[in-house]
Amino acid sequence: MNIILLGPPGSGKGTQGALLAEHLGIVKISTGDLLRDAMRAGTTLGKRAKAYYDKGELVPDDVILGLIEEILARPEARRGMIMDGFPRTVGQAEAVDRLLATRDAALDAVLNFVVPEDELIRRLSSRSEEQGRADDAPEAIRKRLKVYEDQTAPLEEYYRERNLLRNIPGTGEIDTIFERVRRAVTS
Ligand code: AMP
Repeated sequence: MNIILLGPPGSGKGTQGALLAEHLGIVKISTGDLLRDAMRAGTTLGKRAKAYYDKGELVPDDVILGLIEEILARPEARRGMIMDGFPRTVGQAEAVDRLLATRDAALDAVLNFVVPEDELIRRLSSRSEEQGRADDAPEAIRKRLKVYEDQTAPLEEYYRERNLLRNIPGTGEIDTIFERVRRAVTS
């Protein structure tokens, strides 16, 4: 299965995606994690991404599209995967469609985690204290939520039109939310 996790920062994509990956026995790949690895390792990708990342802005598509191509070409992706944190723009979504088509694969579902904004801010602020992620600082949090609204939320329409969008209420206990996720991918 090929599943996309959609939803603003702090909506629980990482947590639910990890549970779902284990449940389905497929990999979950997060562009945010790959960028953090690249920045730590000081690679060309990491250096190009850092300024955008630290400000809470999207890394431009001309940098990310190569990364997405590399992810979808991985051997373990042949069994399907859970995409966490990408696509984040219409350009990236079109690239995913095109790259899957070249492998005779297609998307099965797009899970859209819906969480009220005050709850997102609360979650991201406490993550900032616990993990010290540069982009969880208050300025960057506001920026990331705005960037999501402007550049990523249009993907909801993109996938609704393709009959792939499944809205998942993202508040409540982790197990309760996972039950909604499980039902959404098996229905
Ligand atoms: P995340 O861990 O998914 O919240 O991503 C953290 C940051 O990494 C974002 O604020 C962006 O700066 C960058 N990033 C991650 N994935 C993407 C993507 N698909 N396109 C552009 N920027 C991304």
